[in-house]
Amino acid sequence: MHYIKCEDLDFNQTLAKDLVSLSDVIKTYPFRVSAHYAALIRKKDDAVWRQCIPDLKELEDDEQASDPLAETALSPVPGLIHRYPDRVVLLVSNRCPVYCRFCMRKRHVGEGERPLGPAALQAALAYIASKPEIRDVILSGGDPLMLDDFSLHHVLSSLRKIQHVSIIRIGTRIPVTLPDRVTPELCAMLKKFHPLYLNTHFNHPSEITTKSAQACALLADAGIPLGNQSVLLRGVNDTVGCMRELVTGLLGLRIRPYYIHQMDLVKGTGHFRTSVATGLEIIRGLRGHVSGLAVPHYVIDLPNGKGKVPLLPEMVVRKGNVLTVMTYQGEKVTYHDIDPLL
Ligand SMILES: *Cc1c(COP(=O)(O)O)cnc(C)c1O
Repeated sequence: MHYIKCEDLDFNQTLAKDLVSLSDVIKTYPFRVSAHYAALIRKKDDAVWRQCIPDLKELEDDEQASDPLAETALSPVPGLIHRYPDRVVLLVSNRCPVYCRFCMRKRHVGEGERPLGPAALQAALAYIASKPEIRDVILSGGDPLMLDDFSLHHVLSSLRKIQHVSIIRIGTRIPVTLPDRVTPELCAMLKKFHPLYLNTHFNHPSEITTKSAQACALLADAGIPLGNQSVLLRGVNDTVGCMRELVTGLLGLRIRPYYIHQMDLVKGTGHFRTSVATGLEIIRGLRGHVSGLAVPHYVIDLPNGKGKVPLLPEMVVRKGNVLTVMTYQGEKVTYHDIDPLL
């Protein structure tokens, strides 16, 4: 399998010269930013800067594990994570157009890394074929769309040969970080493999650009349902105002906000962490205030691979059959439930 070739990605060489003071960080956690994404930086320390420019804080000992979700332990064959009964994650690429500083897979992305080789891919496919309960395969990485069209076609057509694989999902940040990668040719190829879903990863309204909108329009016109997974990040998107603008902006791109992730407890990312109270406040600030379609689930991916759990602000107090329910405007309303024993 092969990665795309793309001049846009050489841009990081220029920027890296200005970042010598950060060379220790870059040696541990690779640095790359696409020209498209770097152009979204308006000033030092803004939301885009924080997501892509290395920070010395990444090297602080935050007493966290590099793989808190136990993905390695849940990997029956290299490149495959099988945590839930009916779905698996297939890590087809180790590269991205931008290495997000808060990445949950900081431990294994980078330029030197190769994509899943032919033998490893065959082993992963054989595993999926041997487990009839697997109906949903999620391509992740790295960014799966860093593979060239030919390699991607190979993976998708191999998966489609397995009868019990019903849906395929692609998790990608390409519409945000390298939107020109989404070509009519790519979309024409992807639509041959329906039902195919795509979850993208916008974190901030300033990432919604004309080019990103064009990329998402091409994908949506190919009949691909689009979702979005954001990560809640301190100093980037941890306010109600920012998230309202983001989720409503996404609906305009025909993207349905799917998850807001509480940051995983990954080594080297502590400076991005927010409290759960912040996440709950954001959900409270969305529900009722913006289209229900725009309201994602706020989830914690529990340590040790225990899975994702949605969290909701407390809106109900129950006394017997009488519920006191808080409206989105903070009014308390009584609701009489039926007796569950009747
Ligand atoms: C998040 C995740 C999935 C998919 O979860 P959904 O809630 O179905 O989107 C599957 N496997 C692993 C290991 C995951 O981390």
